Amino acid sequence: MSLTIHPIPAFNDNYIWIVHDGSHAVVIDPGDAQPVKQYLQDHQLDLTTILITHHHYDHVDGVSELCGLQSCDVFAPQDQRMPFAYQAVSEGDDVCISAPKLELKVVETPGHTLTHICYYDQLRLFCGDTLFSAGCGRMFEGTAEQFVSSLNKLKNLPPSLLVFCTHEYTLSNLLFAQHAEPDNTDIRAHQNTVNDWRSEDKPSLPSTLALELKINPFLRTHLPDVQKNVSHHWQTVCDDETRCFALLRKWKDSF
Ligand SMILES: [Zn+2]
Repeated sequence: MSLTIHPIPAFNDNYIWIVHDGSHAVVIDPGDAQPVKQYLQDHQLDLTTILITHHHYDHVDGVSELCGLQSCDVFAPQDQRMPFAYQAVSEGDDVCISAPKLELKVVETPGHTLTHICYYDQLRLFCGDTLFSAGCGRMFEGTAEQFVSSLNKLKNLPPSLLVFCTHEYTLSNLLFAQHAEPDNTDIRAHQNTVNDWRSEDKPSLPSTLALELKINPFLRTHLPDVQKNVSHHWQTVCDDETRCFALLRKWKDSF
């Protein structure tokens, strides 16, 4: 049975990804129960599993209500801020779901929060707020060293992976990316594509890792060109990856 993966819009710009086989479903980061309940009802699906990437309210606030509807397994990183019962998973763990049939590996990606995790298999990456298309999450809790090391883990996954980000931030991220890398023609080309999609109200996601490696400046802080632009913006010397990431993140925070 092939799997359908669909973005359920929530709040202003969140996507709650649902994976289903026509009868059973998994949701990732249900920050709001209502739109998920509606989708389950419309498509006559049983929710078997909830996967959580990190503790922020817009990723977890729907969990208790969804678990109250029918019993389902909840997987999340160990963090006392999770307001529900769950099975804790950590680096290298396999999450084996029988319905729909899905086996995902866990990778720890501190940076946006200290206990953030992502889930991936041979085809797809569910990256929470660690990675956005053409951007990355804000650095609320981790250090630049941690965030760079987390992004490098994701960069080493197969480039063909579909990347399921949780926010529709792509156009504003691309606008910043253009400033960070004015000579990067891939960024401009993708901006045109995404403009077309968004004007038809289509999501810009999923992306692919291969595309992100070309258009996402936060995955490119090891490159001399990006370091040169960051140095120029801050009128400083920046010739290493971690410092470049920190200064790029700071630049984006006030963009
Ligand atoms: Zn978050």
